[in-house]
Amino acid sequence: MADIAYVNGSFVEMNDATVSIKDRGLLFGDGVYEVAGVFEGILIDNDAHLERLKRSLQEIKLELPMNFSELAVLQRKLIHLNKIKEGTFYLHVTRGASESRDFEFPKEQQPSLVMFTQHKKIMNLATDKLKAKVLTYPDLRWKRRDIKSIALLAQVLAKEIAHQAGCNEVWMHEDGFVTEGGSSNAFIIKDDKLISRKNNETILSGITRQAVLKLIQQEDLVFEERPFTIEEAYEASEAFYTSASVFVMPVISIDKKIIGNGEPGALTLKLRNLYENFARSFINQSQR
Ligand code: PMP
Repeated sequence: MADIAYVNGSFVEMNDATVSIKDRGLLFGDGVYEVAGVFEGILIDNDAHLERLKRSLQEIKLELPMNFSELAVLQRKLIHLNKIKEGTFYLHVTRGASESRDFEFPKEQQPSLVMFTQHKKIMNLATDKLKAKVLTYPDLRWKRRDIKSIALLAQVLAKEIAHQAGCNEVWMHEDGFVTEGGSSNAFIIKDDKLISRKNNETILSGITRQAVLKLIQQEDLVFEERPFTIEEAYEASEAFYTSASVFVMPVISIDKKIIGNGEPGALTLKLRNLYENFARSFINQSQR
C-alpha cells in the first residue's frame, strides 16, 4: 500500500494528495517547515521541533490552523498509518491559497498544512555510511536563515553542485567563514576544542546542534562558539555536521582535502553515539 500523507484535514494516499496551484507556498515559497527523525515509530525531540516551528510561524506572521498538541496527535496518527519505524517526518505550513497572485497577505488567511513521512535508516549506520565528503560553496541565501523557510533554491543549487562533485553535503561560506551546511549545521574539532558558529540570523538554529551542545557538557571538550574559516576547516583534526535526518555525520574530506587521517574522528563518533542514546531515550519516555 502506498504511503499516506496528511493534507489540510484529510489523510490521503500520497499519490492522491494535492494542493491548489494558487497555494502561496508554491507561488512564493511563502511557508515554513520542519523535519524530525523517527525511530521505533517515535518522533525524536519533537517538542523542540514544534517550538522552532512556532517561532518560524511567528516570524512570518502565520498561525497554525490548530494548537500544537492537536498537531502532535496528527503526527502520531500519520506515523501509525504509515507503520513507519525509522525515517523522517516532514511537515510544512504555507499561507494557503489566495484568489489572485498578489504579494500582500490575503485578507483571510487559510494556512495549508501538509505532512508526510519517509522511510530511511538513520540509526546504527554501517561505518562506510559515516564518511561524508563536503564541498564548500558561497552562501547565496537571504538574510533570515533563522526562519525555516520552504524557499530552498539556494540550497538546492548548492547541494546539486556538491552532489555533482561526488560530495554528500555542501558547506556554505560568507566573508571567508563557513555559515552552515546546505541542510545541516557545521562543526570542526581542533586541539580538543569544538568550534561552531553562534546561533543568530546567519544560520538555522539546528535542533540536533542544540542537543549535541547539551551532550558535550559531559565530555572533556571545550566549546568555542565562533565562526571558523574554510582554511581552519581544512586543518581541523575532525569535522562533522548535524541534522535531524543524519544525526552527527563525520566528515572525512572538505574540497578533496583529507580531514585528520581520513577516517571518522574518535570524538565525532563518541558524540554520534551520545546522540543515538539521546534519540533512544524518546522511546523509553513514550513507554512510561
Ligand atoms: N541548517 C539548515 C540550513 C538546515 O536545513 C538544517 C536541517 N533542517 C539544519 C541546519 C539542521 O537542523 P536540524 O538539526 O533541526 O535538523
